[in-house]
Amino acid sequence: MRPNFWQQYTLEELTTAEWEALCDGCGACCLEKFLDDPDEPYTVEYTDVACKLLDCETGYCSNYANRHQYVPECVSLTPAKLPDMMWLPENCAYKRLYLGQDLPKWHLLLTNDIEATKQGMRQAGVGVAGRCVSETWVNEDDLEERIIQWVHA
Ligand code: SF4
Ligand code: SF4
Repeated sequence: MRPNFWQQYTLEELTTAEWEALCDGCGACCLEKFLDDPDEPYTVEYTDVACKLLDCETGYCSNYANRHQYVPECVSLTPAKLPDMMWLPENCAYKRLYLGQDLPKWHLLLTNDIEATKQGMRQAGVGVAGRCVSETWVNEDDLEERIIQWVHA
């Protein structure tokens, strides 16, 4: 990856490896959410109910390479889709760079230290690991009762 690529190049100019490295693995985009008003994406309400493929202990997709076989609606993030994805959490590097903001200070690309990044994410309250439940175990009618306040767009 090129040095400081997130500052030197546009999102469209990034290599696949650079693009993937922007993801902090918070898992928030894998939570069920209510997008009440498509014109007001920041009004999204997140729940603690996760996609059936999310490993709720680790917060990572359990079958990322083949995910579309099981979850066809899983969004493959691209620069072109970002304008319609402002419901992403405020920590998400894709959204932040799109909006002209910096990476969060705990991002692995800045710390180069996985433990420091994990600690920073914990302190910032970022990450779904250990605090979500699979949609497999939740009735769709109960989703509204599962709205949470710890993910902010
Ligand atoms: S919200 Fe953004 S940073 Fe978090 S897992 Fe999804 S794509 Fe990655
Ligand atoms: S398929 Fe994987 S990456 Fe896509 S929403 Fe589900 S858990 Fe997340």
